[in-house]
Amino acid sequence: MAVDTAPDLLPAILQEIAAEARASRDRGKVADYIPELAAIDPDQFAIAIARPGQPTLTAGDAAVPFSIQSVSKLFMLALALGRLGDRLWNRVGREPSGHSFDSMLLLELEKGRPRNPFINAGAIVTTDAVLEGATPREALGALLRFIRAAAGDEAIHINDRVAASETTTGHRNFALAHYLRSHGNLSNPPEMTLGTYFHQCAVEMTCTQLANAGLFLVGGAGAPRLVSQARIRRINALMMTCGHYDGSGDYAFRVGLPGKSGVGGGILTIVPGVASVAVWSPGLNHYGNSHLGTQAMERLAARTGWSVFGPDGGV
Ligand code: GLU
Repeated sequence: MAVDTAPDLLPAILQEIAAEARASRDRGKVADYIPELAAIDPDQFAIAIARPGQPTLTAGDAAVPFSIQSVSKLFMLALALGRLGDRLWNRVGREPSGHSFDSMLLLELEKGRPRNPFINAGAIVTTDAVLEGATPREALGALLRFIRAAAGDEAIHINDRVAASETTTGHRNFALAHYLRSHGNLSNPPEMTLGTYFHQCAVEMTCTQLANAGLFLVGGAGAPRLVSQARIRRINALMMTCGHYDGSGDYAFRVGLPGKSGVGGGILTIVPGVASVAVWSPGLNHYGNSHLGTQAMERLAARTGWSVFGPDGGV
């Protein structure tokens, strides 16, 4: 387990990391597959650290809402495991894919059983599973209730314009959903499951809200108890091995903590037993993960000693 080595130094470390991000020339490339994301100012950067029972610390643009995109996959996974338990694993695996977030390749080879719940195909199956016995409105209502309870914030909402744009451009996701259906691994019509999936991706949160929402995965005294300790351990394991698509190994190597990224430039990282950290910067690296966000997490891990693999000597 990571230890809270430097609580008094955290505010200064955050300011330092935000200043370094602000000065950075290489900011990555903003996602441009929908106009709502393409129009985001790449110069923004935010970081927030939430710890059970303590005030959330922030630096940079931590009050600016952004599209959480694939970070939503971990909240939907928590919901699906709560409803189906281990039955979910009959439909989706727990192995890293080593392929991009929307790859079709393995799905064909592995007969419609996605590698993990954090690539698009696996997330579509997870959402489809939550739709067992629920309408899309009920499933999305349950997701929002979960996220709001986790963050302790009723203001969190879905951006309908982003969801509509996702629907217009989501040809690859439609291909994945139809392919899953052809293998009997999609119970609902593709339009229905994807309509729900696109809305979950369109949840908007600030960095502060996202860090607070991650507290349920920190565990320990004072953290909100929305899932069991055993489930916290397993969701964190999946975040570590699969949370950054084909860049998951690189994130584990550089940061050493479980994290889940989204194409909107957000990353939620868990320091087990200690903290939930959200970073946001819209420019992406070649894996589709936030470029400055990853760099900031690498620096934070080095300066605090936070890592599940032991402390770093410094970057
Ligand atoms: N809405 C995006 C998609 O499904 C999410 C991808 C991501 O955040 O990585 O294509």
